Amino acid sequence: MNRSWVEVSLGQIQTNYRSVQKLVGGGVAVMPVVKADAYRHGAVAVARALEQAGAKWLAVSNVQEGATLRDNGITARILVMADFLPTSRDAFFDYRLTPVVHDLAALPDWELRARTRSSEPGLGRFHLKLDTGMGRLGTRASAKAIASAFGKLHHAECEGLMTHFASSADFTSPQTEQQTAAFLSTRAALAESGISPQYWHLAATNPLTFGQKKTFGNMVRPGFCIYGYTSKGKGDVPPSALRVAPALSWKTVVLEVKRLPKNAPVGYGAMHRVQRDSRIAILAVGYADGFPHRLSNKGRVLIQGQSCPILGSVSMDVTTVDITDLASNKSSEAVKPGDTVTLLGRDGDEVIDAQQIARGAGTIAYAVLCGIHSRVARNFVA
Ligand SMILES: *Cc1c(COP(=O)(O)O)cnc(C)c1O
Repeated sequence: MNRSWVEVSLGQIQTNYRSVQKLVGGGVAVMPVVKADAYRHGAVAVARALEQAGAKWLAVSNVQEGATLRDNGITARILVMADFLPTSRDAFFDYRLTPVVHDLAALPDWELRARTRSSEPGLGRFHLKLDTGMGRLGTRASAKAIASAFGKLHHAECEGLMTHFASSADFTSPQTEQQTAAFLSTRAALAESGISPQYWHLAATNPLTFGQKKTFGNMVRPGFCIYGYTSKGKGDVPPSALRVAPALSWKTVVLEVKRLPKNAPVGYGAMHRVQRDSRIAILAVGYADGFPHRLSNKGRVLIQGQSCPILGSVSMDVTTVDITDLASNKSSEAVKPGDTVTLLGRDGDEVIDAQQIARGAGTIAYAVLCGIHSRVARNFVA
Protein backbone atom coordinates (compact mmCIF):
# COMPACT_ATOMS: atom_id res chain seq x y z
CA MET A 1 0.00 0.00 0.00
CA ASN A 2 1.45 3.33 -1.07
CA ARG A 3 1.55 6.34 1.21
CA SER A 4 1.95 8.76 -1.63
CA TRP A 5 1.91 8.24 -5.37
CA VAL A 6 1.63 10.02 -8.70
CA GLU A 7 -0.63 9.01 -11.55
CA VAL A 8 0.81 9.77 -14.97
CA SER A 9 -1.35 9.71 -18.08
CA LEU A 10 0.83 8.51 -20.95
CA GLY A 11 -2.08 9.15 -23.30
CA GLN A 12 -2.13 12.81 -22.28
CA ILE A 13 1.62 13.05 -22.87
CA GLN A 14 1.10 11.62 -26.37
CA THR A 15 -1.73 14.10 -26.96
CA ASN A 16 0.50 16.97 -25.86
CA TYR A 17 3.29 15.75 -28.16
CA ARG A 18 0.86 15.62 -31.09
CA SER A 19 -0.32 19.16 -30.34
CA VAL A 20 3.27 20.37 -30.59
CA GLN A 21 3.86 18.45 -33.82
CA LYS A 22 0.67 19.88 -35.28
CA LEU A 23 1.65 23.41 -34.29
CA VAL A 24 5.12 23.28 -35.87
CA GLY A 25 4.09 21.30 -38.95
CA GLY A 26 5.61 18.27 -40.64
CA GLY A 27 8.85 19.98 -41.68
CA VAL A 28 9.98 20.51 -38.10
CA ALA A 29 11.24 17.63 -35.93
CA VAL A 30 9.90 17.55 -32.39
CA MET A 31 12.51 16.39 -29.87
CA PRO A 32 10.74 16.01 -26.52
CA VAL A 33 12.91 16.66 -23.48
CA VAL A 34 12.82 13.77 -21.01
CA LYS A 35 15.63 14.90 -18.70
CA ALA A 36 15.28 14.68 -14.91
CA ASP A 37 13.31 11.44 -15.25
CA ALA A 38 10.92 13.22 -17.65
CA TYR A 39 10.32 16.00 -15.12
CA ARG A 40 9.59 13.12 -12.70
CA HIS A 41 6.88 11.63 -14.90
CA GLY A 42 9.06 8.53 -15.47
CA ALA A 43 11.58 8.76 -18.31
CA VAL A 44 11.44 5.20 -19.61
CA ALA A 45 7.65 4.93 -19.87
CA VAL A 46 7.36 8.48 -21.19
CA ALA A 47 10.07 7.85 -23.80
CA ARG A 48 8.29 4.67 -24.94
CA ALA A 49 4.99 6.51 -25.22
CA LEU A 50 6.63 9.33 -27.19
CA GLU A 51 8.34 6.87 -29.54
CA GLN A 52 4.97 5.25 -30.09
CA ALA A 53 3.51 8.66 -30.91
CA GLY A 54 6.21 9.18 -33.54
CA ALA A 55 9.13 10.92 -31.80
CA LYS A 56 12.41 10.20 -33.61
CA TRP A 57 14.53 12.22 -31.17
CA LEU A 58 14.60 12.61 -27.40
CA ALA A 59 16.71 14.98 -25.30
CA VAL A 60 18.22 14.30 -21.89
CA SER A 61 20.62 16.16 -19.66
CA ASN A 62 23.41 13.68 -19.06
CA VAL A 63 24.80 10.36 -20.30
CA GLN A 64 23.40 8.44 -17.35
CA GLU A 65 19.88 9.43 -18.34
CA GLY A 66 20.63 8.44 -21.94
CA ALA A 67 22.13 5.11 -20.90
CA THR A 68 19.04 4.29 -18.81
CA LEU A 69 16.83 4.84 -21.85
CA ARG A 70 19.04 2.62 -24.03
CA ASP A 71 19.15 -0.10 -21.35
CA ASN A 72 15.36 -0.09 -21.48
CA GLY A 73 15.10 -0.51 -25.20
CA ILE A 74 14.63 3.06 -26.42
CA THR A 75 15.96 3.28 -29.99
CA ALA A 76 15.21 6.93 -30.90
CA ARG A 77 18.13 9.28 -31.36
CA ILE A 78 19.09 10.76 -27.98
CA LEU A 79 20.66 14.20 -27.61
CA VAL A 80 22.59 14.78 -24.37
CA MET A 81 22.39 18.49 -23.68
CA ALA A 82 24.56 19.20 -20.66
CA ASP A 83 27.26 16.59 -20.17
CA PHE A 84 30.38 16.64 -22.27
CA LEU A 85 33.00 16.02 -19.63
CA PRO A 86 35.95 13.93 -20.83
CA THR A 87 34.93 11.21 -18.35
CA SER A 88 31.52 10.93 -20.05
CA ARG A 89 32.70 10.74 -23.63
CA ASP A 90 33.20 6.96 -24.04
CA ALA A 91 29.58 6.46 -23.03
CA PHE A 92 28.35 8.40 -26.06
CA PHE A 93 29.75 5.66 -28.26
CA ASP A 94 28.78 2.77 -25.97
CA TYR A 95 25.17 3.92 -25.76
CA ARG A 96 24.82 5.58 -29.19
CA LEU A 97 24.11 8.99 -27.70
CA THR A 98 24.67 12.32 -29.43
CA PRO A 99 26.45 15.05 -27.47
CA VAL A 100 25.92 18.77 -27.40
CA VAL A 101 29.36 20.34 -27.62
CA HIS A 102 29.61 23.75 -26.03
CA ASP A 103 33.31 24.49 -26.26
CA LEU A 104 35.40 24.30 -29.44
CA ALA A 105 38.39 23.24 -27.32
CA ALA A 106 36.71 19.84 -26.86
CA LEU A 107 36.59 19.10 -30.59
CA PRO A 108 40.11 17.68 -31.13
CA ASP A 109 39.44 15.07 -28.45
CA TRP A 110 36.05 14.24 -29.93
CA GLU A 111 37.63 13.94 -33.39
CA LEU A 112 40.21 11.53 -32.00
CA ARG A 113 37.53 9.36 -30.41
CA ALA A 114 35.42 9.43 -33.57
CA ARG A 115 38.43 8.32 -35.60
CA THR A 116 39.24 5.50 -33.18
CA ARG A 117 35.69 4.24 -33.41
CA SER A 118 35.12 5.09 -37.06
CA SER A 119 33.86 1.54 -37.71
CA GLU A 120 30.67 2.73 -36.03
CA PRO A 121 29.59 5.42 -38.50
CA GLY A 122 27.41 8.24 -37.29
CA LEU A 123 28.63 8.05 -33.72
CA GLY A 124 30.92 11.02 -34.22
CA ARG A 125 27.99 13.33 -34.86
CA PHE A 126 27.41 16.18 -32.43
CA HIS A 127 25.32 19.31 -32.06
CA LEU A 128 27.07 22.60 -31.34
CA LYS A 129 25.50 24.95 -28.84
CA LEU A 130 25.95 28.67 -29.32
CA ASP A 131 25.73 31.01 -26.37
CA THR A 132 23.79 33.77 -28.08
CA GLY A 133 23.42 35.79 -24.92
CA MET A 134 22.04 33.56 -22.21
CA GLY A 135 25.43 33.38 -20.56
CA ARG A 136 25.21 29.71 -19.69
CA LEU A 137 26.41 26.66 -21.67
CA GLY A 138 27.45 27.28 -25.26
CA THR A 139 30.36 28.64 -27.25
CA ARG A 140 30.74 32.37 -27.74
CA ALA A 141 33.22 31.79 -30.58
CA SER A 142 32.76 33.64 -33.88
CA ALA A 143 31.55 31.89 -37.03
CA LYS A 144 35.10 32.21 -38.32
CA ALA A 145 36.55 30.39 -35.30
CA ILE A 146 33.86 27.72 -35.54
CA ALA A 147 34.53 27.20 -39.25
CA SER A 148 38.23 26.93 -38.59
CA ALA A 149 37.70 24.32 -35.82
CA PHE A 150 35.30 22.35 -38.03
CA GLY A 151 37.89 22.41 -40.84
CA LYS A 152 40.01 20.02 -38.79
CA LEU A 153 37.24 17.42 -38.39
CA HIS A 154 37.21 14.36 -40.63
CA HIS A 155 35.44 11.77 -38.51
CA ALA A 156 33.46 13.96 -36.16
CA GLU A 157 30.57 15.78 -37.80
CA CYS A 158 28.41 18.72 -36.74
CA GLU A 159 24.86 17.58 -37.29
CA GLY A 160 23.04 20.38 -35.50
CA LEU A 161 23.36 23.98 -34.43
CA MET A 162 21.42 25.11 -31.38
CA THR A 163 20.94 27.79 -28.80
CA HIS A 164 18.77 28.28 -25.73
CA PHE A 165 16.72 31.32 -24.67
CA ALA A 166 17.01 33.03 -21.32
CA SER A 167 13.83 35.13 -21.28
CA SER A 168 11.45 33.65 -23.83
CA ALA A 169 8.31 34.22 -21.73
CA ASP A 170 9.21 37.85 -21.07
CA PHE A 171 7.79 40.13 -23.75
CA THR A 172 9.07 43.22 -21.99
CA SER A 173 12.63 42.09 -22.78
CA PRO A 174 14.39 42.31 -26.17
CA GLN A 175 16.61 39.36 -25.21
CA THR A 176 14.80 36.69 -27.24
CA GLU A 177 14.92 38.79 -30.40
CA GLN A 178 18.57 39.60 -29.82
CA GLN A 179 19.42 35.94 -29.25
CA THR A 180 17.47 34.87 -32.33
CA ALA A 181 19.23 37.48 -34.47
CA ALA A 182 22.65 36.43 -33.13
CA PHE A 183 21.88 32.78 -33.85
CA LEU A 184 20.63 33.43 -37.37
CA SER A 185 23.61 35.59 -38.19
CA THR A 186 26.12 32.95 -37.02
CA ARG A 187 24.18 30.31 -38.91
CA ALA A 188 24.27 32.41 -42.09
CA ALA A 189 27.98 33.13 -41.71
CA LEU A 190 28.67 29.41 -41.28
CA ALA A 191 26.61 28.64 -44.36
CA GLU A 192 28.79 31.06 -46.31
CA SER A 193 31.78 28.99 -45.24
CA GLY A 194 30.02 25.91 -46.57
CA ILE A 195 28.88 24.70 -43.14
CA SER A 196 25.17 23.88 -43.00
CA PRO A 197 24.39 21.38 -40.24
CA GLN A 198 21.28 19.31 -40.92
CA TYR A 199 19.39 20.49 -37.83
CA TRP A 200 19.03 23.90 -36.24
CA HIS A 201 17.01 24.45 -33.11
CA LEU A 202 16.32 27.19 -30.60
CA ALA A 203 12.85 26.72 -29.14
CA ALA A 204 11.80 25.07 -25.89
CA THR A 205 8.24 25.41 -24.57
CA ASN A 206 7.88 29.20 -24.42
CA PRO A 207 8.41 30.08 -28.08
CA LEU A 208 6.03 27.25 -29.00
CA THR A 209 3.41 28.50 -26.55
CA PHE A 210 3.56 31.97 -28.05
CA GLY A 211 3.76 30.79 -31.67
CA GLN A 212 7.17 32.37 -32.39
CA LYS A 213 7.74 30.67 -35.74
CA LYS A 214 11.01 32.48 -36.36
CA THR A 215 12.57 30.38 -33.61
CA PHE A 216 11.28 26.97 -34.73
CA GLY A 217 14.16 26.24 -37.14
CA ASN A 218 13.69 22.65 -38.28
CA MET A 219 13.67 21.14 -34.79
CA VAL A 220 12.15 22.11 -31.43
CA ARG A 221 12.95 20.95 -27.89
CA PRO A 222 9.77 21.04 -25.78
CA GLY A 223 9.82 19.78 -22.21
CA PHE A 224 7.36 21.60 -19.95
CA CYS A 225 4.51 21.60 -22.51
CA ILE A 226 4.94 17.87 -23.19
CA TYR A 227 3.92 17.45 -19.54
CA GLY A 228 1.00 19.78 -20.11
CA TYR A 229 2.27 23.10 -18.80
CA THR A 230 2.91 26.47 -20.39
CA SER A 231 4.03 29.71 -18.81
CA LYS A 232 1.72 32.71 -18.64
CA GLY A 233 4.27 35.14 -19.96
CA LYS A 234 5.04 38.71 -19.04
CA GLY A 235 4.25 41.96 -20.86
CA ASP A 236 2.47 42.14 -24.20
CA VAL A 237 2.01 38.39 -24.55
CA PRO A 238 0.76 36.91 -27.84
CA PRO A 239 -2.20 34.52 -27.51
CA SER A 240 -1.19 30.98 -26.63
CA ALA A 241 -0.85 28.86 -29.74
CA LEU A 242 -0.66 25.53 -27.97
CA ARG A 243 -3.33 23.28 -26.45
CA VAL A 244 -1.93 20.96 -23.78
CA ALA A 245 -3.09 19.60 -20.42
CA PRO A 246 -1.20 18.31 -17.37
CA ALA A 247 -0.48 14.59 -17.37
CA LEU A 248 0.43 14.07 -13.72
CA SER A 249 -1.58 14.07 -10.54
CA TRP A 250 -0.20 13.46 -7.05
CA LYS A 251 -2.08 11.76 -4.25
CA THR A 252 -1.62 10.72 -0.67
CA VAL A 253 -3.77 9.20 2.07
CA VAL A 254 -5.20 10.27 5.41
CA LEU A 255 -3.34 8.71 8.35
CA GLU A 256 -5.50 10.03 11.16
CA VAL A 257 -8.52 12.25 11.74
CA LYS A 258 -9.22 14.04 15.02
CA ARG A 259 -10.63 17.05 16.82
CA LEU A 260 -8.59 19.89 18.25
CA PRO A 261 -10.03 22.41 20.71
CA LYS A 262 -9.90 26.12 19.97
CA ASN A 263 -6.40 27.62 20.45
CA ALA A 264 -4.61 24.25 20.25
CA PRO A 265 -1.25 24.42 18.47
CA VAL A 266 -0.54 22.33 15.39
CA GLY A 267 2.81 20.77 14.59
CA TYR A 268 6.47 21.88 14.87
CA GLY A 269 7.07 25.24 16.39
CA ALA A 270 3.35 25.68 16.98
CA MET A 271 3.37 27.58 13.71
CA HIS A 272 -0.40 27.54 13.77
CA ARG A 273 -3.10 27.63 16.45
CA VAL A 274 -6.61 26.65 15.47
CA GLN A 275 -9.01 29.57 15.81
CA ARG A 276 -12.03 27.38 16.56
CA ASP A 277 -12.84 23.84 17.59
CA SER A 278 -11.51 22.02 14.57
CA ARG A 279 -11.34 18.74 12.78
CA ILE A 280 -7.96 17.99 11.30
CA ALA A 281 -6.61 15.27 9.04
CA ILE A 282 -2.98 14.19 9.14
CA LEU A 283 -1.70 13.20 5.70
CA ALA A 284 1.02 10.76 4.72
CA VAL A 285 3.14 13.20 2.76
CA GLY A 286 5.90 15.62 3.70
CA TYR A 287 8.88 17.46 2.39
CA ALA A 288 10.83 14.19 2.15
CA ASP A 289 8.37 13.33 -0.64
CA GLY A 290 9.02 16.66 -2.30
CA PHE A 291 5.91 18.35 -0.93
CA PRO A 292 7.36 21.83 -0.37
CA HIS A 293 8.05 22.84 3.22
CA ARG A 294 7.22 26.35 2.17
CA LEU A 295 3.56 25.37 1.81
CA SER A 296 3.50 25.42 5.63
CA ASN A 297 0.42 27.39 6.74
CA LYS A 298 -0.16 28.35 3.10
CA GLY A 299 -1.00 25.55 0.74
CA ARG A 300 -4.13 23.48 0.34
CA VAL A 301 -5.10 19.97 -0.73
CA LEU A 302 -8.30 18.43 -2.07
CA ILE A 303 -10.40 15.98 -0.08
CA GLN A 304 -13.79 14.84 -1.35
CA GLY A 305 -13.56 17.49 -4.05
CA GLN A 306 -13.16 20.27 -1.49
CA SER A 307 -10.26 22.53 -0.75
CA CYS A 308 -8.62 22.02 2.68
CA PRO A 309 -5.97 24.45 3.98
CA ILE A 310 -2.65 23.23 5.34
CA LEU A 311 -2.22 23.93 9.07
CA GLY A 312 1.20 24.52 10.59
CA SER A 313 4.42 23.25 9.16
CA VAL A 314 4.73 20.66 6.44
CA SER A 315 7.01 18.16 8.17
CA MET A 316 9.27 15.46 6.80
CA ASP A 317 6.68 12.72 6.45
CA VAL A 318 3.33 14.21 7.39
CA THR A 319 1.22 17.27 6.74
CA THR A 320 -1.84 18.45 8.67
CA VAL A 321 -4.91 19.97 7.03
CA ASP A 322 -8.13 21.55 8.27
CA ILE A 323 -11.24 19.56 7.40
CA THR A 324 -13.63 21.39 9.73
CA ASP A 325 -15.61 22.83 6.84
CA LEU A 326 -15.98 19.65 4.83
CA ALA A 327 -19.62 19.07 3.96
CA SER A 328 -19.39 15.41 4.87
CA ASN A 329 -18.37 15.95 8.50
CA LYS A 330 -21.77 15.16 9.95
CA SER A 331 -22.60 12.28 7.64
CA SER A 332 -21.40 8.71 7.25
CA GLU A 333 -19.19 9.99 4.44
CA ALA A 334 -16.85 11.62 6.98
CA VAL A 335 -13.14 11.57 6.20
CA LYS A 336 -11.33 8.55 7.65
CA PRO A 337 -7.85 7.02 7.66
CA GLY A 338 -6.95 5.56 4.28
CA ASP A 339 -9.02 8.07 2.31
CA THR A 340 -7.38 9.48 -0.80
CA VAL A 341 -6.17 13.08 -0.86
CA THR A 342 -5.22 15.03 -3.98
CA LEU A 343 -2.11 17.20 -3.65
CA LEU A 344 -1.85 18.04 -7.34
CA GLY A 345 -4.55 17.32 -9.89
CA ARG A 346 -8.32 17.30 -10.12
CA ASP A 347 -10.87 16.13 -7.57
CA GLY A 348 -14.43 16.83 -8.66
CA ASP A 349 -14.69 20.47 -9.71
CA GLU A 350 -11.52 21.53 -7.89
CA VAL A 351 -8.05 21.55 -9.47
CA ILE A 352 -4.60 22.23 -8.07
CA ASP A 353 -1.78 22.36 -10.59
CA ALA A 354 1.98 22.65 -10.23
CA GLN A 355 1.85 26.36 -10.98
CA GLN A 356 -0.49 27.02 -8.05
CA ILE A 357 1.71 24.97 -5.73
CA ALA A 358 4.74 26.87 -7.01
CA ARG A 359 3.13 30.25 -6.30
CA GLY A 360 2.33 29.18 -2.75
CA ALA A 361 5.81 27.81 -2.20
CA GLY A 362 7.65 30.73 -3.81
CA THR A 363 9.21 28.57 -6.49
CA ILE A 364 8.54 27.56 -10.10
CA ALA A 365 6.34 24.76 -11.41
CA TYR A 366 9.34 23.02 -12.99
CA ALA A 367 10.90 22.71 -9.53
CA VAL A 368 7.66 21.38 -8.00
CA LEU A 369 7.47 18.60 -10.61
CA CYS A 370 11.18 17.77 -10.49
CA GLY A 371 11.05 17.85 -6.70
CA ILE A 372 8.66 14.90 -6.43
CA HIS A 373 10.86 12.39 -4.62
CA SER A 374 11.64 8.93 -5.93
CA ARG A 375 10.04 7.36 -2.85
CA VAL A 376 6.69 8.56 -4.23
CA ALA A 377 5.31 5.60 -6.19
CA ARG A 378 4.34 6.05 -9.81
CA ASN A 379 1.30 4.57 -11.52
CA PHE A 380 0.72 4.90 -15.24
CA VAL A 381 -2.82 5.36 -16.42
CA ALA A 382 -4.30 5.65 -19.90
C1 LIG B 1 15.26 21.83 -20.34
C2 LIG B 1 15.63 22.32 -21.69
C3 LIG B 1 14.66 22.40 -22.69
C4 LIG B 1 13.18 22.20 -22.40
O1 LIG B 1 12.68 23.35 -21.79
P1 LIG B 1 11.14 23.52 -21.43
O2 LIG B 1 11.01 24.91 -20.97
O3 LIG B 1 10.85 22.52 -20.36
O4 LIG B 1 10.37 23.23 -22.66
C5 LIG B 1 15.08 22.72 -23.95
N1 LIG B 1 16.38 22.98 -24.23
C6 LIG B 1 17.33 22.94 -23.27
C7 LIG B 1 18.74 23.24 -23.64
C8 LIG B 1 16.98 22.61 -21.98
O5 LIG B 1 17.92 22.59 -21.02
